[in-house]
Amino acid sequence: MSFSTLGLSAPILDALKEQGYTSPTPIQAQAIPAILAGQDVMAAAQTGTGKTAGFTLPILERLAAGKPAGANQARALILTPTRELAAQVAESVATYSKGMKLSSTVVFGGVKINPQMMKLRRGVDILVATPGRLMDLYNQNAVKFSDLEVLVLDEADRMLDMGFIHDIKKILKILPAKRQNLLFSATFSNDIRKLARGLVNNPVEISVSPPNAAAPSVEQKVYKIEKAQKPALLVQLIKDNNWFQVLVFTKTKHGANKLTQQIEASGFKAAAIHGNKSQGARTKALAGFKDGSVQILVATDIAARGLDIDQLPQVVNYELPNVAEDYVHRIGRTGRAGSTGHAISLVSEDEIKLLRGIERLIKRTLDVETLPAFNALPKAPARTPSNSAPAGQKPAPRKPRARRPAPKKTLAADK
Ligand code: AMP
Repeated sequence: MSFSTLGLSAPILDALKEQGYTSPTPIQAQAIPAILAGQDVMAAAQTGTGKTAGFTLPILERLAAGKPAGANQARALILTPTRELAAQVAESVATYSKGMKLSSTVVFGGVKINPQMMKLRRGVDILVATPGRLMDLYNQNAVKFSDLEVLVLDEADRMLDMGFIHDIKKILKILPAKRQNLLFSATFSNDIRKLARGLVNNPVEISVSPPNAAAPSVEQKVYKIEKAQKPALLVQLIKDNNWFQVLVFTKTKHGANKLTQQIEASGFKAAAIHGNKSQGARTKALAGFKDGSVQILVATDIAARGLDIDQLPQVVNYELPNVAEDYVHRIGRTGRAGSTGHAISLVSEDEIKLLRGIERLIKRTLDVETLPAFNALPKAPARTPSNSAPAGQKPAPRKPRARRPAPKKTLAADK
């Protein structure tokens, strides 16, 4: 199938050609005709499926046919949960609309509001926004929605996770009742369905990958290891595999900072990205990671959400997430748009339960690897007499303990 059969016109087809896209992804093949026909859409699609172009291209096509935006008006509003995702979506909108007479801008918190107000003055055809800053701008009369034609909620599941439901409800109240609604979410939980009931009308439902199934092009491995050895193992893996671009996930902001320092102390260029970092620092870290000057990006789940880094080859779960679904989101950063990716998880004793939860969710047991120089965790405790072995196997020789176990520390959560 080609993009031209989907009903997109020349300027968009040219932009796609320039991007090197030859055929639509499954979400695009299904969403584009429905959106062009003016229907509401509810789509279950994870990052990496091409969902951004899936909603952006038909919106551009529809907007091109109408009147330009009036002063302070927005004709299409795309809401995203994070600043990074907003910036990326806006970048895609700008790329795909290059040859068109459509205007677009992006607004998010953490940066000055005045330049954003100036940009909205003349009105924009497409506005990409995070919910909090959008409400601030609305309350200061910088943006109006009486001409709004299309609303997109992107990564709606994450918006709910991040507590944006009240902002979203407020925003829905100030939008005109007659509009097209597009709801994109990685999964369709009960909460998302509840939100959808007050939002979409008679929607076309699209699902491109079975919910909670990891992309098949991601090779997943586990290293079971003592917690104290994780920094050294990570550095060893970076060296052994010559990883040039690796995204590492930690559970906490504090953990991300600490690990970044440890990696840098080993001579690698690393940067942390999390909610306590200023917008400038986040943008700089991401830009460095994309251009190769930062080799290792250490991120918390929320900061990493929606990061679009082409062909990211390697993801490391330095710590497993508390929520199994986040594992699927994390490894979705790699193996995107047809390339094979690798995801490695460093799992300590206290995380075995989380690992089992993840394996139940993705319906497979993950391969466990060991590195000779590192003490693997002891196998699951068998309640058999000491040093017994299954029939036909020699009992393993007892190894002397290398060192006393470290005292148990309890880490304060600093999510
Ligand atoms: P998304 O799921 O929107 O984050 O897109 C994932 C990646 O796929 C982005 O890097 C896009 O540039 C890329 N992409 C989107 N559509 C296509 C396509 N039809 N062919 C090839 N790559 C695509």
